[in-house]
Amino acid sequence: MNEKTTRGRARGGRRRIPLTVKWLAPLAVLGLLALWIPTTDAWVAVRAQMRAASWEKEEPRGPDNITPRMEAVRDAVKKEFGIKGDLGCYREDGGIAGGGEHPLGRACDVMLVDAGGKATGEDLELGRRIVEWVRENADEYGIWYVIHEQRIWSSRWPLKGNAPMEDRGSNTLNHYDHVHISVY
Ligand SMILES: [Zn+2]
Repeated sequence: MNEKTTRGRARGGRRRIPLTVKWLAPLAVLGLLALWIPTTDAWVAVRAQMRAASWEKEEPRGPDNITPRMEAVRDAVKKEFGIKGDLGCYREDGGIAGGGEHPLGRACDVMLVDAGGKATGEDLELGRRIVEWVRENADEYGIWYVIHEQRIWSSRWPLKGNAPMEDRGSNTLNHYDHVHISVY
């Protein structure tokens, strides 16, 4: 390989650079770019939007009137956290302006304490662990967003983390008594 040189340059009297060496620097730069780009915020943001757009909308079905995607998340959460009772999923009134995803069968609520209360101690910890699980498994299950403790995490905007929300006026509306999960 060392015999192969850049002839044009050699004729011009300049030092002969072996081809392997000549290509090493650009290849190293490309390699570093390939490693660096996926770690940039811009790439993370673009990838999240592309991933979000890739989920086809589903319609609710069956006696529980939720989508297959929501059903999979509901069952996985119940299994993961040993929740015996039902989660509050489909209901006609989503409880927020615009309706939200409950009337579409694409949302479930995991109650941590009695409605209207404020979770503390183990109940609060459970809520936080559920949020963590949802975030970690969002890509696999097609999770759109999760709300708990007046904070929202969305798979569309992963860089915002658990973003603070406006005060809606009650423990329930501020999600201190339950965790809300929406799917695409
Ligand atoms: Zn909800």
